[in-house]
This record gives sequence, C-alpha cells and structure tokens, in this order.
Amino acid sequence: MQAAAATAYAVPSPARSGGDCRRRRRDELGYFLGRSSSSRSLQWQRRRCRLPLPVLALDAAQAFDYEARASSLMDQSARLKIAVVGFGNFGQFLARTFVKQGHTVLAHSRTDHSAIARDIGCSDFFVDPHDLCESHPDVVLFCTSILSLRSVIASLPLHRLRRSTLVADVLSVKEFPRQALLRAMPPDFDILCTHPMFGPESGRAGWAGLPFVFERVRVADSPPDRRLRCDRFLDIFRQEGCRMVEMSCAEHDRCAAETQFVTHTVGRMLAKLELESRPINTKGYETLLQLVDNTCKDSFDLYNGLFMYNKNSTELLDRMEVAFDSLRKELFGRLHVILRDQLFGDHHPDDP
Ligand code: NAP
Repeated sequence: MQAAAATAYAVPSPARSGGDCRRRRRDELGYFLGRSSSSRSLQWQRRRCRLPLPVLALDAAQAFDYEARASSLMDQSARLKIAVVGFGNFGQFLARTFVKQGHTVLAHSRTDHSAIARDIGCSDFFVDPHDLCESHPDVVLFCTSILSLRSVIASLPLHRLRRSTLVADVLSVKEFPRQALLRAMPPDFDILCTHPMFGPESGRAGWAGLPFVFERVRVADSPPDRRLRCDRFLDIFRQEGCRMVEMSCAEHDRCAAETQFVTHTVGRMLAKLELESRPINTKGYETLLQLVDNTCKDSFDLYNGLFMYNKNSTELLDRMEVAFDSLRKELFGRLHVILRDQLFGDHHPDDP
C-alpha cells in the first residue's frame, strides 16, 4: 500500500507539459528518497498539499500489479517442498499426486529409486539423507514400512533441517508413529500423523470419497504460517476429494483393528487356500478373489506391522479365532444331533 501511495503522489497532472512533468517527477522522487533540498522541490511539495491527487491509468494499474504479484507469490508459497522418505510402493503412489498438484517432491530411500523418481517428475532423488535434509523441505513425509520407522528416523540428520519443519507420516498404524515422532523430533518441529486409508489398488481410479484420517499432534499456532502450511498439506488430499476424518491416533487404532486388520487377515487366510477362478464364480466369490488380490499385493512387512504395532490387533486375532471355533462347534453340534438320531432313533437322513 505504501508503494502505491508513493506512486500516486509522484504522478504529475496530465495537463502540464512533458518537461515539467519530468522535472517534477525527478524532484518528487528526490523527496521520497530524502535527497531533495532545492527550493523548487520545496515549492512543489507545498503546492502538492493543495492539489487534488491526479492518478493516471498507468499508475492505477500498478496497484493492481502489486495485487497480482502478491497473489502470485501466495500461489507460489501454496506449493510445498515435500520430502518423501521411504520411496517404495506407497511413497511413489503419493508422489505422483503431489507432482500433479505442482508441489516440489524430493525423494529418499534405502534403495536407489532415482529412475522412477525422474519418471514421476520428482525434483530430486537423494541417496544421502544429509543432502535431503540440506535441501530444507517444508514437509518431511515418512512413508517407510512400519517396522523400519524408528531406524529410518535415526538415520536422518535432523539438525540439518529447518527449525520449523513439519514432519508427517502415512503409516497404517497411528499410536506408534505418534509416540516415535514426539520422542525423536526436536520441540520446534510440527508433527502431523495421517493415514490415507487407501492404496495403489483401491485408489487407482482416484481418491474421491476415500477416507483420510489425521491428527494434528503438535502444530504451533504462531507464526500463523505454521498452521497454514499444515492445512496446505492436508489440502492436497482434500483437493482430490478424500473424506477428511480428524481423529485421535488412539481412536484410529481401535477402529483400524476392526476394519483394516480383519480385512488383511481374511485376505491372507483365503490366499493360503489357493482359491482359483472357476467357470461358475458367484459375485460373492469374485469379491473374495479380489480381496485376496488386494491384500496380498501389499508387502508382508505392512501386514506384520498392522499386527505388531497395533495393540488392538492381538485381541482381534483372538476374537477371530474364538469366532471361527464357535462357528465350527455350531456346525459340528448340529451334525452330531443328526448322527445320534440315526444311530439311536427312527430319524431318516433326509428328514430335517
Ligand atoms: P512397506 O513394505 O510397508 O514399506 C516399504 C518402504 O519401507 C520402502 O520405501 C522401503 O525402502 C522402506 N523400508 C523397508 N524396510 C526398511 C529398512 N529396514 N530400512 C529402511 N527403509 C526400509 O510398503 P508400502 O506399501 O510402500 O508402505 C509404506 C508405508 O505406507 C507403510 O508404513 C504403510 O503402512 C503405509 N501405507 C501403505 C498403504 C498401501 O496401500 N500400500 C496405504 C496406506 C498407508 P526401499 O524403498 O529401500 O525398499
């Protein structure tokens, strides 16, 4: 605003001659730069106080230029520099969308995935975690396996990151990374725990309507751009149409044991049966085959992590076993009644 006001004062009336205008503009500029001492300039300053402010279209446009520039600056800052740490199946899947939305993506993994990173459009792939941290990303996003999170955190030179970095994770369990990040991250870092509840298979056709769970574990209120940066990161998923669910990590783990762990366990159990497609597949059976396919495409590390690092999963596995036992007992119980009747009574095998 100050710059716009200065422009308005410096503009001479269009009715005056070009030479006058140039001289006055020179004097006026000198005044604003604090260098004017000529009596001519002083006269101009006195007269200026009495004249209405003449504003040329050219100068008026400049104010809008400032606005346009300001909004384009805001646009630029809406683009985040995101470091994806753990550039495996899921890290690559997310990176595609980050790049599509115009964010700068840096990648880092134990294995050299630089060719894939280039294909996806990432700005850089770093083998050395020091180089990654020295690039000062706005967000460090942990996409490593659940089992390796702690060792991956330990391998990062956190002191090379900016003091106000936002660290986030996408692990499929939530209490464990929440505690690990709170314990390992310097107090100035912001922490956001998330779980996009879909993967490369279920999110292949887009993320619209798919649940995205998150907890702002520690996000500083000031300066305000800390909150804004966190919101901008969440906006990536909002923009894709995800169903945003704000939920504590503990609550997530309670719910996820019943939804995710059961799904993966049933899928993996059915896989052990080596089920095959048949000419008389029913719709229900096809759903089961698809479940096997979806769950077994994920690494065993992921499934193991769902069990090891969610304390609710152990209880659920016990409940599944009890449920299976009780179902089997119910079936065999009925069978025994019929067999006993046949052995000791008049019951015909075809009778109900
Ligand atoms: P994953 O097997 O859970 O993780 C693979 C990633 O972890 C790779 O980048 C791998 O590094 C890294 N890693 C494994 N062991 C490591 C070790 N000892 N040291 C360093 N890095 C190690 O498979 P994912 O599907 O890509 O999942 C990644 C994360 O996203 C997991 O935490 C998972 O729970 C979460 N998630 C996955 C899905 C999904 O549908 N797949 C959905 C939501 C959330 P390399 O690249 O070097 O092999």
